[in-house]
Amino acid sequence: MHHYGQYAPPRPHRAHRGHHPTGRFCPRCSYPLYHQPAKAVWIDHCWRCGGSFVEPDEVADAIGEHADPTKWQARAFARPATPSRLACPSGHGRMVSYHLCHEGKEVEIDGCLVCRGLFLDSRKARTLAAITSAVHDEMAMPGAAKGPLGVMAMYLLQVTTLMPSKVHAPLKRKTVLVPIAIALMTVIFAFEMLLAISDQLDAFLRSFAFVPRDFARGKSLLSVATYSLLHGGVAHLLGNMYTLYVFGENIEDTLGGARAAVLYWASAIAGGLLYFVLNAKSSTPLVGASGAIAGLMGAYLVLLPRVKLWLVIFFVPVKIRVYWYMGVWFLLQFVLMMDPKSRIAWEAHVGGFIAGAALAFVLRRRETPEMPPSMRRPGRSAV
Ligand SMILES: [Zn+2]
Ligand SMILES: [Zn+2]
Repeated sequence: MHHYGQYAPPRPHRAHRGHHPTGRFCPRCSYPLYHQPAKAVWIDHCWRCGGSFVEPDEVADAIGEHADPTKWQARAFARPATPSRLACPSGHGRMVSYHLCHEGKEVEIDGCLVCRGLFLDSRKARTLAAITSAVHDEMAMPGAAKGPLGVMAMYLLQVTTLMPSKVHAPLKRKTVLVPIAIALMTVIFAFEMLLAISDQLDAFLRSFAFVPRDFARGKSLLSVATYSLLHGGVAHLLGNMYTLYVFGENIEDTLGGARAAVLYWASAIAGGLLYFVLNAKSSTPLVGASGAIAGLMGAYLVLLPRVKLWLVIFFVPVKIRVYWYMGVWFLLQFVLMMDPKSRIAWEAHVGGFIAGAALAFVLRRRETPEMPPSMRRPGRSAV
């Protein structure tokens, strides 16, 4: 009986008409491998089982910077390499089988010890890229992408401010709202400084900062939202913008711009309203994006609780999960509450945080897993 009789190989798909056979054969199913573009390079692709053979100099370009086997971290391996059943398509004999895993993601890959090429079954490229870059980021210090100076700058920033940086939380798409928001609030702060020079800042704050006593009398009702665009000093602005940068992008990426904007403004208003309820007679103007940003932090706790953060505590860099960070941060607000002299509006933090966490439950969407185009296959066949 002919070897292919029971499988009936699919006809070449339109997308690879003109792509040429490589002269190599699939180690999984012995169907000819075809040249197939993957990002910037060409890989050897099997249209039958969806497997791909990627040569070592193509791995970084086709799959991801850290997917290159020479850069795999020892921590990524679930077990030592074992002999594989598959032979290298370039004729170097049996390959070895690697089992990589990280945080519940796992993947088995075959590699040739002679030519260092990798054979990946259908749809494995994205998992391989995810695992290898996550483990790489975990081992690298914050700022490492910018070299030793970057590491030093991040260490100094974190040791002096106690601000966190993310260990590994890659974006699926580019975000626009976070940089726009940072630019906008910086411009508004510069405008406030100009008004201060010409003694017009008080009038401006009466209209746009949140003053509970005025709000109670029905004056400048919109100030319950606009207060979050203003800041009271350079440190206040920088601290808030840094926190917005750390947590905002993942929220915009996960929810989408429109939902993230709704969550942001609702948190700002919730923070303002809780401040109002507890300080209705106060004439102290409230300013700052902290309430809105606390909403992003609440959403982060709901949407990405297992992301790890780098912190420098007593000069020692540590990695902690987002749920620990957010939990301690939230409890700290009640310590602030005890201190009557504190000028930090813990009410706005608490109101924003709770609103953001609650809205994240409502607004989150179920992600459908998508395949990279290069790994999509025209026909299905049981192998
Ligand atoms: Zn195959
Ligand atoms: Zn080989």
